[in-house]
Amino acid sequence: MLTGMPTPSSTPPSTSPSTSPSTSPSNTPSTYAHLDADLLRRQTAAAVELIARYWNSLDSRPVRSAVKPGEIYDAMPPVPPSKGLGEAGFSEALRTIEGLFVPGLTHWQSPNFFAFFPANISTPAVLGELLSAGLGVQGMLWATSPACTEVESRVVDWLAQMLDLPEAFLTRSANGGGVIQSTASEATLSALVAGRWRVQRALGEEERPLAIYASTQAHSSIIKAAMIAGLARHPEDARHARFIPVGDDFSMDTGALRARVMADAASGMAPCFICASVGTTGSGACDDLAEIVAIADECGRRHGIRPWVHADAAWLGSACICPEFRHLLRGIEGVDSFAFNPHKWMLTNFDCDCFFTRDRASLTASMSVTPEYLRNAASESGGVIDYRDWHVPLGRRFRALKLWLVIRHYGVEGLREYIRGHVAMAENFEQLVVADGRFELCAPRSASLVCFAMKDRDDAENKRLLDAVNATGRAYLTHTVLPATPSRPKRLVLRMAIGAATTTPEHVRAAWDTICSCV
Ligand code: PLP
Repeated sequence: MLTGMPTPSSTPPSTSPSTSPSTSPSNTPSTYAHLDADLLRRQTAAAVELIARYWNSLDSRPVRSAVKPGEIYDAMPPVPPSKGLGEAGFSEALRTIEGLFVPGLTHWQSPNFFAFFPANISTPAVLGELLSAGLGVQGMLWATSPACTEVESRVVDWLAQMLDLPEAFLTRSANGGGVIQSTASEATLSALVAGRWRVQRALGEEERPLAIYASTQAHSSIIKAAMIAGLARHPEDARHARFIPVGDDFSMDTGALRARVMADAASGMAPCFICASVGTTGSGACDDLAEIVAIADECGRRHGIRPWVHADAAWLGSACICPEFRHLLRGIEGVDSFAFNPHKWMLTNFDCDCFFTRDRASLTASMSVTPEYLRNAASESGGVIDYRDWHVPLGRRFRALKLWLVIRHYGVEGLREYIRGHVAMAENFEQLVVADGRFELCAPRSASLVCFAMKDRDDAENKRLLDAVNATGRAYLTHTVLPATPSRPKRLVLRMAIGAATTTPEHVRAAWDTICSCV
């Protein structure tokens, strides 16, 4: 593979663009008017300088924007320029970005960002985005850019090894492999569609109502996927979508799941999909994968229908590259698919979700449509991967580049240390909460996520505390409402989600001081 490529030494990079045939062919000077290499060189430096200034200013900015709705929209010209502003217009554009757009940003890369889950970026990932944009590849088929496909296969295989996934999830396995998708929501939809395809194929001509399952704490993308797939008309439509209660640790009550799956199957429904959460959005709870797989297998044995099991590890999956977190994936060998987002907590710019399956035949059969114009010899040889069949979009960009650069830059150990740093900060924060009689933990800490609230204060008072903290601009946290469990009441809690690439223990301590000052 890749034989015949010139070695770097045989093609030294040109330093003289005006004479280089690859950047400015002398016989067709206007051919590359839109890919003006000199202009790129001149303007990249100013754009990079803006980013560098922005990064250096993050700590001192209020984390959330103070703009009013419509302010930025109104400040922009209501009609587009009829004549291009050209090169000179770029400096003005940069001034607009810095002066108008940046104040309208929530600073997700701020060291004081503790809201939602992180959306990591890093220098190698940003460079990967730039290179991907500059190479301008559309890799829908292996044939439309073999490197785009093969780098991706190699990089997802690296990740599979980092996560210690079984061999059945690797590219070289008989029926498995990984792919980069856009988001965890797309991963869930893909898995649901693959599971539905597999069950419908097993049913043949027989029509049965389908059923899907997740815990009440699973991400909203599961019911959204059901709505898109035609299995729910609205978020509360429970005719086909079953949301199973959780226990005191907010993980799925697998006894209730077993009862529901078996009752549905016995009543003539076809359970086609179970989504297990490895790190719920609310509290970071982890469902018992091994038990959920056992329930799916039992349904297969007893009722002849084995639902697809998908593990949604959107945020927490990154932690599983550390051996001490790998137990969260116990039972992974029995799931049909697993997805996590390096764009959350693994230093890789949005968007980057890695989806692994050990049944790629069902996945691709559920997604594959081949119009004549996409036919080509390589695809028909059966010897290459066409990732277009592994997800919703047809077109795809070279997203593997940024992931490749990130993994090379940090190495596996560097990425593990990164995760462990945030987990240690969360442990410290947890101790501060526990040691302060005014507060209490509201769920077991999950890696770098701590859910807490003021003791003996109602939800409105806790919400007021959150709003007061956020109003300082010195920290940004978000809330959730955790449901009632056998021994906990329903409760509004504050979520301290540590994971910005810039956060240090001092920032966490400062956030705690801010919280205390707002009580
Ligand atoms: N699943 C879980 C557990 C999540 O926490 C999230 C988002 O935070 C998602 C899915 C959706 O992620 P995405 O934005 O990649 O679709």
